[in-house]
Amino acid sequence: MSPTLAAVLLIGIFVLAGLLIALGLGLSRRAQRLEEAGGPAAPTGADTADAASSAVAVPARPPLLRDRLGKTRATLSRSLGALTGRRAIDDDAWDSVEEALLVADVGVATTSRLINDLRARAAANRVSDPEQLVPLLREELVEDLAGADRLLHHAPDGTTVWLFVGVNGTGKTTTIAKLAQREIADGRPALLAAADTFRAAAADQLSHWADRVGADVVRGQEGADPGSVVFDAMNAAGGRGAGVVLVDTAGRMHTKVNLMEELKKVRRIAERTPGALQEVLLVIDATTGQNGLTQATQFADAVDVTGVVLTKLDGTAKGGIVLAIEAELDIPVKLVGVGESPDDLVPFDPEEFVAALFA
Ligand code: GDP
Repeated sequence: MSPTLAAVLLIGIFVLAGLLIALGLGLSRRAQRLEEAGGPAAPTGADTADAASSAVAVPARPPLLRDRLGKTRATLSRSLGALTGRRAIDDDAWDSVEEALLVADVGVATTSRLINDLRARAAANRVSDPEQLVPLLREELVEDLAGADRLLHHAPDGTTVWLFVGVNGTGKTTTIAKLAQREIADGRPALLAAADTFRAAAADQLSHWADRVGADVVRGQEGADPGSVVFDAMNAAGGRGAGVVLVDTAGRMHTKVNLMEELKKVRRIAERTPGALQEVLLVIDATTGQNGLTQATQFADAVDVTGVVLTKLDGTAKGGIVLAIEAELDIPVKLVGVGESPDDLVPFDPEEFVAALFA
């Protein structure tokens, strides 16, 4: 081998070794960075994109009802599981279906109507296998919930006002914050009106949420006239560029009569601007089941409710209350709360809901 060739080979070996060392160092630094960041490597594009994408807020995936309705699904499937292996659709089979609906808190009246309809459906479909009752029940429930107007309406022009009513603790404030976040994301700045002047803590809590989701807030002194807060908020909305005013109201006062009279007054103030009041949303805590329904009747009678927000569906086996509410109050469930974070509010979709109830 000539000395020149040997020199070239030696240089080549050095260059190759240098490259391999550099590559090794690079990989180990990257591994260290990832370890410091506390997570595994995301299976996404090029490294150069990492820095840029970390600065952009990743929109949260809306929660799936199926993931949050596990408790109600488990309750239903325990009772309906008794249909498996039965030879005929006998009284015991019907008892299992009835029990499933009652335990899920569908309520006695609605359960008995649904069972009658299901009997007719089973006869019309000439069904003889008890297990076939389950898909028929699914169909029955979807049909029962079909056809309602579940949209949240906005004023065609000018400010939109949505009023929230319901007993304390049902989730009014949280729901207002969740909706404000959604409206803001849709390009409609939101202004929150703290018209529960009965408790100072209520306005503080609303202001806290307003900060968190980037909404504006109007509040009055403790004990101030709630109507005046609504009036001020509606006046301020135009100037502050708010597209929608979300009004929190008291859920408890010295007497129920006082409370209902106060709510009627608040409603009248909101109605002074023609076309502004688009929704009166009653917030019901699903975990209170049939008791929630009784409270709901009182609010519905006083303020002419346009829709229900059913909260805490994630924490209850009583999801069947949706059917009782719609049947007994004749008010559509428009939204359901499935958790405590601002993203945990989803539009109520009957098909998705019923699918989530069955395994
Ligand atoms: P308000 O008194 O009616 O305004 O009720 P809040 O908004 O203060 O809510 C009462 C409690 O219920 C709080 O701890 C909330 O985090 C909780 N909450 C509200 N909505 C939901 C929901 O959809 N799921 C669960 N698990 N908790 C909720």
